[in-house]
Amino acid sequence: MLIGVDICNTIAKINEALALRFLGTSEIPQELRKQRRWDLPGLSPDFFRTPEGLRLFSEAGPYEGAAETLKKLVGAGHRVVYITARPKESELVTRRWLKEHGFPNGEVVFSEEKGETCLDMDVQLMIEDDPVFAKQVKEVGIPVFMVRQGYNADFPALKMDWKMAGLLFGMVVSHNQKNILNK
Ligand SMILES: [Mg+2]
Repeated sequence: MLIGVDICNTIAKINEALALRFLGTSEIPQELRKQRRWDLPGLSPDFFRTPEGLRLFSEAGPYEGAAETLKKLVGAGHRVVYITARPKESELVTRRWLKEHGFPNGEVVFSEEKGETCLDMDVQLMIEDDPVFAKQVKEVGIPVFMVRQGYNADFPALKMDWKMAGLLFGMVVSHNQKNILNK
């Protein structure tokens, strides 16, 4: 099957990097954990198009277990496509980051209409953190797994973290894919 994977705050710790850059701490304050977009001085909507924003993308850390889990899935015959709302200007930085952190090869698609993109590409499962994009994907009838974050607690979807996912997908793989992934 083709698995869609979001990047920011799904496999890359962008909010930690933002907190470090704008607040001087990688410990995200409680009130910000509940917000999908942060209103901070200096953090303009165009921040990620600037050299500094692109540097932040390249310096963000990956979620532990994410690359390993996705590699396992690819090893079992599945395919991965990265579907991100990042600006297109970040393409080089994004590809390099995926490679550097050991993520499996896959097309990188830039889209803010993730439902349509998933339909067009025949994605069968999307892994996402953002309730806005998760809703788009759900609305076109494609299942969504969500990486657990404070701001998506109320969104009706299966929540996961990458360590749990390793276990979950690992079982699926070892059962020769006859499980939920083939639905
Ligand atoms: Mg995201």
